[in-house]
Amino acid sequence: MAIIGGGVAAVEAMLAFDATSYSRAEVHLFSPKSKFVLKPLAVLSGFGRGDLLNFDLPKLTATVGATFHNLSVSEVVPQRRMIRLSDDSEFSYDYLIVSPGAKPLWFVPGATPFWGPGGNQAVSEALAPLREMEKPRVVVTLPEGGTGRCRYTNSRC
Ligand SMILES: Cc1cc2nc3c(=O)[nH]c(=O)nc-3n(C[C@H](O)[C@H](O)[C@H](O)COP(=O)(O)OP(=O)(O)OC[C@H]3O[C@@H](n4cnc5c(N)ncnc54)[C@H](O)[C@@H]3O)c2cc1C
Repeated sequence: MAIIGGGVAAVEAMLAFDATSYSRAEVHLFSPKSKFVLKPLAVLSGFGRGDLLNFDLPKLTATVGATFHNLSVSEVVPQRRMIRLSDDSEFSYDYLIVSPGAKPLWFVPGATPFWGPGGNQAVSEALAPLREMEKPRVVVTLPEGGTGRCRYTNSRC
C-alpha cells in the first residue's frame, strides 16, 4: 500500500489502516516534507499567538510500522500500478491512496491571504502597522458560498 502526501488525509489514512484488520499490509508514505503540520492551529502562529503544532513524519510512520519516504511523487502510472518518485526511481503498489492536498486560490486580489504555515510572515507584516493606529478598521473576507454554517448561530459565517 502506498500513500501519497504528508497532510492530515495521508496521516489519517495511515492510522486508520493500522487500526483495521489490514494492519499486516506493508504501508509506505511518500512526502517531500518530513513534518506534518496541523493547519487549523497554524492560524494562532499567524497572529503571533503560539508555535506551530507539528509532528515528525518518520517517527509517526514508525509507530505504526509504516515506512516514510522523504520524496515527492512525480507520476502515477495506474496501468502498471506504479508511482515515479522525485529521485527518478519507481515504486510498485497494490493499492494507492492519493492525498497531495489542494491548490489554494487567491480569491480576493490585493488581500493578504493566510494559506497556512508559510503565510505567517505576510500576516505579521500586514498586522504590524495596526498596533500604531488608534482605531484601525480591519476587513476579514471570505469567499462566497462553501464556507459552511456558523457553529453557534446557525447562520452563514
Ligand atoms: C490556515 C488554515 C486553517 C484551517 N482550518 C481548518 C479547520 O479549522 N477545520 C478544518 O476542517 N479544516 C481546516 N483547514 C483546512 C485543512 O487544513 C485542509 O482541508 C487539510 O489540511 C487538507 O488535508 P490534506 O491532507 O488533504 O492536504 P494538505 O494538508 O494540503 O497536505 C498535502 C500533503 O501532500 C504533500 N504533497 C503534495 N504534493 C505531493 C506529491 N507530489 N508527492 C508527495 N506528497 C505531496 C504535501 O507536502 C502535504 O504534506 C485549514 C486550512 C488552513 C490553511
